Amino acid sequence: MTTSRSTAAGPPAIVATDVSRTYDLDGVSVPALRGVSLTVADGDYLAIVGASGSGKSTLMHLLGGLDRPTGGTLLIGGRDVAKLSPPEMALLRNKTIGFVFQSFHLLARTTARDNVALPLVYRGIGRRERRARAAEMLARVGLAHRMDHRPNQMSGGEQQRVAIARALVTGPSVLLADEPTGNLDTTTGQSVLALLESLNAEGVAVVLVTHDRDVAARAHRQIVMRDGLIVEDSSAPTAAAGAPAGSGPAVAAPADGVVAGAPAGGGVVAGAPAAGAPAGGVAAGGVAAGGVAVDGPAGGGGA
Ligand code: ADP
Ligand code: MG
Repeated sequence: MTTSRSTAAGPPAIVATDVSRTYDLDGVSVPALRGVSLTVADGDYLAIVGASGSGKSTLMHLLGGLDRPTGGTLLIGGRDVAKLSPPEMALLRNKTIGFVFQSFHLLARTTARDNVALPLVYRGIGRRERRARAAEMLARVGLAHRMDHRPNQMSGGEQQRVAIARALVTGPSVLLADEPTGNLDTTTGQSVLALLESLNAEGVAVVLVTHDRDVAARAHRQIVMRDGLIVEDSSAPTAAAGAPAGSGPAVAAPADGVVAGAPAGGGVVAGAPAAGAPAGGVAAGGVAAGGVAVDGPAGGGGA
C-alpha cells in the first residue's frame, strides 16, 4: 500500500506474458503467436529475427498497442491493454510508442515538415508549435534542408528519416521498427541504423525486426522467433552460445529507467495504421487513406 512509485522509475515499458495471437481467416484459425513472453525495459536495444511468417510483425503490432493479444497478458507502460477501451489504448500508444515501418508510410502529398507535425495535431498542439517541433525533429535526423520536400522528392533513406522524426516528435519511450532498413541499400540502411542507435543512446528503447544478421548483431539483445514462439533470447542467462559477437545484455545498454533524454514533448507514435489492420498487410494504402492514425480511437483489436 505504501508503494507509491514515482513515474520516472515506473514499470518496464512493455511486458508481454505468455501472449498469443490467433487470426481467424475465413473460419480457419491461424496461430501467429503461440505464447510469447518478453520484457522491453526503458533504454533497451533489441533485435528480433526469424523467418518470414514466424510472427515478428504480429508481435510488433501487439507490443505497439496496434493490436491486442487473444491470450496472455500485455502491459504497456504498466497498463493491461485488455482493460483499455480503444480510445484509452490510442492515447497510451500515442504517449509511449513510436512506430517505423519498412515502407515508410508517409503521406504522399504532404511535406516532410507536415508529415512530422501530424501526430501533434492529435495532441491538441497549436500549429505554430507543431511546425517548430517538426522542424526541430527534422534537424535532429539530419533533414533540416528537406523540410518542404514531399516524399516523392526524397530518397528512400530520407523518407525513412522523416518517418523516424514523425515517430519521435511526441517523445515516445519506445521506438518499434519493423524492418526499417528493408527497403534501403546497405549504406543508407547503415545510416538509418546509426540514427536509431543514437536515439537509443539518448535513452529511447529500440526494438527492431530485421532479416539482416549484421544489423541484429549490433543490438544489445537478440531474439529469434520461429513458428510463433521465441526460440532464443540472448538475454537469457545461458544463451551465450550462438549469439553474435558483442551481443548480450552486458553491453552498456542504458538499462533500467534511463528514459530521460527522450526528445521533445509527450509521447507518440505516428504512422501507425489503426488497430485491426492485418499484421501482414499494413503496407498498402492503409496509412495514407486512414491518415496517420496517430491518435484516433483505433478500431480495437482485429475485427
Ligand atoms: P513475420 O512478420 O515474421 O513475417 P507475421 O507476423 O506477419 O510474420 O505473420 C505470422 C503468421 O500469421 C503468418 O502465418 C501469417 O500468414 C499470419 N498472419 C499475419 N497476419 C494475418 C492476418 N491478418 N490474418 C491471418 N493470418 C495472418
Ligand atoms: Mg513481418
